Parts: sequence; C-alpha cells; structure tokens
Amino acid sequence: MPATIIDGKAFAAKVRAQVADHVTRLKDAHGITPGLAVVLVGEDPASQVYVRSKGKQTVEVGMKSVEHKLDAETSEADLLAVIDQLNNDPEIHGILVQLPLPKHLDEDLVINSIAPEKDVDGFHISNVGLLGTGQKSMVPCTPLGCLMMLRDHHGSISGMDAVVIGRSNIVGKPMAQLLLGDSCTVTIAHSRTKDLAEVVRRADIVVAAVGRPQMVPGDWIKPGATVIDVGINRLDAPERGEGKTRLVGDVDYDSCAAVAGAITPVPGGVGPMTIACLLANTVTACCRANGLDEPDGLTA
Ligand code: NAD
Repeated sequence: MPATIIDGKAFAAKVRAQVADHVTRLKDAHGITPGLAVVLVGEDPASQVYVRSKGKQTVEVGMKSVEHKLDAETSEADLLAVIDQLNNDPEIHGILVQLPLPKHLDEDLVINSIAPEKDVDGFHISNVGLLGTGQKSMVPCTPLGCLMMLRDHHGSISGMDAVVIGRSNIVGKPMAQLLLGDSCTVTIAHSRTKDLAEVVRRADIVVAAVGRPQMVPGDWIKPGATVIDVGINRLDAPERGEGKTRLVGDVDYDSCAAVAGAITPVPGGVGPMTIACLLANTVTACCRANGLDEPDGLTA
C-alpha cells in the first residue's frame, strides 16, 4: 500500500486559521492584539525571504508585526538595546532574532537576552531547561510542527520507537525531548552513530534532521513506519532549465514512500508548519502574558 502523504501545507493552513480565530477572540473579548517582533541583522538573502514571509503571515492572522532591520555591522550593545526595548514593550508578546547572526555577535548571549516568556523560537536556555524537565515552556517551532503532525496522524504516539537523526539544538534535541514527552522510546542518532541503517530500521517514527540530501534510503525504513523529513536541501536541476534548482529532503522520497506507512514531502511537509507554529507560539505567549486560556492543541 502506498504511504499516506502527510500534507504539511494543508495542516499549516488549519493551524493558521485556528490562530486567526483566537486572535479575533482576544481582540473582541479583551481588546488585546498579539504582537510579534522580528529582528534581522545584515542582508543574508535567505534570512530576508524568511523574515518577509513571517511578517506577511503574522499580519494575515490579524496580529501586529514589527520588523527591526539592523545593518551587518551593528554592535552587540546596540542589538541588545533593541531586544531590551522589545522585552519591555507591552504590545510585543513574541520576539524572534533571525539566525544566523553575523560572526562578531555572540548568538548565545543574544538569544539569552530575550525575555524567556517572549522567546517564541524556544531557544532561550530557560525554555530549553523547562522543556527538558517536562514543564510548560516555549517550544522550538520546527519540532513543534513535527509533533503536531505526528499527533494528528497517529492520535497517540505513546510507546512507539522513535529515531531522530541529528542532534542540533534547533531541531534534533528538542524533537527528541518532545517525543519523550509523548512517551516514545527515543534514540538520537548523529554523525558518529555506528550502523545508522540498523538503528533506523527499529523505528516506528523516523525524524530526519541532518542537512544531507536524500541520505536515508527506503531499505532503512521499517515497513509501515512514519517518516518526518525536516531536511531542506537545494540541488541543481538542469532538466528544469539553466541555473534552475529543486528542493529535496534528507530522505530519498520515492524509495521511502514505497515502504513507509506515512511520509512528509519536501517541499510541502515540515517547512510550512514552522512559520505556522511561530504564529501559534506568539498567540500562546500573548495568552500567558495576560493570564488567559491558551488555545487548545497549539503547543506541546
Ligand atoms: P545541523 O547542521 O545543526 O545539524 C545536523 C545534525 O546532523 C548534526 O547533529 C549531525 O550530528 C547530524 N549528522 C550530520 N551528518 C550525519 C550523518 N552522516 N549521519 C547521521 N547524522 C549526521 O542542522 P539543523 O539545523 O538541525 O538542520 C537539519 C536540516 O533541517 C537542514 O537541512 C535544515 O535546512 C533543515 N531545517 C528545516 C527547517 C524547516 O522549517 N523545515 C528548520 C530547521 C532546519
């Protein structure tokens, strides 16, 4: 039987609609508009695209969007001053500093200067600790999107064997914590893992977050397993015309889809969920800041 395709684009639209509904309720019942501030330092073209897209979607769900664009030479002190001002702005409920930062800026210092309750990326050390100890936190957007899709597809994932390939602070580690929080038996594999194929073959759930195009072949996948492909890799595609490229994930889609029970495509799987979860985190942060009920199903 062919694998079910988990449609992240459609799911993200559902999440955005739920966020928009909640924003309307916050405005009508409490006169509160959730606000998201994005800080971009420098002119990295990919970061500019992400920031534009975040701003557009923030406005589309009815929230206030603020962008701070600072030049590439901005000093650490000036950047910290912008964050301090946003930390103290009652109309701003979420702050995101677009990564990567230029080399002269200390990323850890900058992220840890964001007020934890406004840290909608979930990268502040307090949120990392809260997530690791199973307490209420702001949860990193990409792993949160993966968890939402898994819960939606399976209902419960309790007791399932999950393998996360990749141990980054942004995806792999928080993903493993979330799966553990939902009572999976979790293995984290990485570049030094011995016999990765055998490790992956045990898994009912495989989350690939490596950054290596199509590295997981179908014969590593247990029949019927669910495959969540976080990877975004750009390959040359001369067949589409000169200079053209195409996006592929970290799993070899065709061979994995032939064996898996369910799979996320690239593009159209995990990618669209990430910004939807950023909006979800902002509305959650706004509710928490105002002592109001959070929307159901939008956090871990
Ligand atoms: P990263 O480079 O920080 O981490 C990659 C991890 O993969 C490392 O922990 C490393 O140990 C592991 N690894 C490297 N080679 C390996 C190998 N041969 N076998 C097993 N493990 C290996 O990357 P990241 O930030 O976690 O991102 C991973 C991928 O996910 C990238 O393609 C990135 O573009 C994508 N990504 C997508 C989204 C999204 O919104 N969909 C968000 C973040 C990252």
